Amino acid sequence: MEITVLGKSPSWCDAGGACSGYLVQEGNFTLLLDCGNGVFSKLRCVCDYVDVDAVLISHLHADHFLDLLPFSYGLTYAPRQQPVAVAGWAGTDHPARPDLYAPNGAADVFRQITSTFGVDDLVERAFHLHHYGSPDQLEIGPFTVRLQEVPHFTTTFAADLASNGTRFTYGADCGPNDALVELARDTDLLMIEATLPRPERTGERGHLTPGEAGEHGRRAGARRIVLTHYSDELDADACRAAAVETFGGEVELAREGAVYTL
Ligand SMILES: [Zn+2]
Ligand SMILES: [Zn+2]
Repeated sequence: MEITVLGKSPSWCDAGGACSGYLVQEGNFTLLLDCGNGVFSKLRCVCDYVDVDAVLISHLHADHFLDLLPFSYGLTYAPRQQPVAVAGWAGTDHPARPDLYAPNGAADVFRQITSTFGVDDLVERAFHLHHYGSPDQLEIGPFTVRLQEVPHFTTTFAADLASNGTRFTYGADCGPNDALVELARDTDLLMIEATLPRPERTGERGHLTPGEAGEHGRRAGARRIVLTHYSDELDADACRAAAVETFGGEVELAREGAVYTL
């Protein structure tokens, strides 16, 4: 299994960066895990978008799904997707139409957004949309995907992807919880958010500090943890140090373009 970080920014993009997006590949199968704003451009730098077999969305916050819109436009209007020869492409009766897995209610959210500019079913025409709920287990290509709801400001799912005896667990966005610890138990790599320099001002929890992220990784017995969803406005070394202390071992920080081979 190979994981490529396309974007690791929180909801406000890093300078030149993209929000959440991770390419997870096994053999010839390519899964895009989250597709936040800025991700489609980054995807195009490493992979032909018509070769994406499936997209899995953890939750319906803009920084995790908004670039489904440009992705949908590409699948709709790209010359190679047309039924007749155009711009050097032969034309096809079988345009790429990736599977899209998103939380229950996603179709309504996509329609609410795209109807404001007159294309109600933009996303549903471009992708085969499948909804999932809680808890759920999906077979997506070579991956067995277990989905676990985690506490956040909207319905949100962490995902554990298993293939060929190897596991990758993605915590999505979440406040402190036990559910992610159980989902990630003994995982090979836990990609976990570390958004906050300190707990939320309001007291309502929906994100983790680096220290909390490390602590979740330790409780899960994760072999390896990678912090993500942190801003370039934070001190990366301080983030890492806080997580190392609670994890009790080496901690990596996600960087755009980083590739993890499991
Ligand atoms: Zn987020
Ligand atoms: Zn979120």
